[in-house]
Amino acid sequence: MEACPFCRIVRGQTDTRILYQDDLVTAFPDIRPIAPLHFLIVPNVHLESVNAVEAGHEAALGRMFTVARRLAETYHVTQSGYRLIVNTGPHAGQSVFHLHMHFIAGRHMPFRA
Ligand code: 5GP
Ligand code: ZN
Repeated sequence: MEACPFCRIVRGQTDTRILYQDDLVTAFPDIRPIAPLHFLIVPNVHLESVNAVEAGHEAALGRMFTVARRLAETYHVTQSGYRLIVNTGPHAGQSVFHLHMHFIAGRHMPFRA
């Protein structure tokens, strides 16, 4: 069985609800949401983290932002706001080693970067 949980989701091998998918990226709800809206946007290709990013991945990484904007529109948070987070490594608390962007919205987020 595929070891990476997000690769399994991308390949349709789980019952995870897919919010969006194209040739480059996939979006789905976080299994442990920390806000009323909490989605993950991932490249379809397995990259462990930002540390593995190269120029050839830029199309997928750019598409992740386009999908974030579309999710904001779909869920009507364009004006109220949302937060996009990419955790990388131990200090950031990365727990799944398939690069992913958190899309978090629907409440105030007090912590400031
Ligand atoms: P990280 O801390 O690595 O930035 O975030 C990983 C996120 O993935 C966590 O918010 C966690 O709840 C979520 N997650 C972990 N495993 C799964 C899974 O199998 N399915 C989904 N939908 N989310 C997951
Ligand atoms: Zn993966």
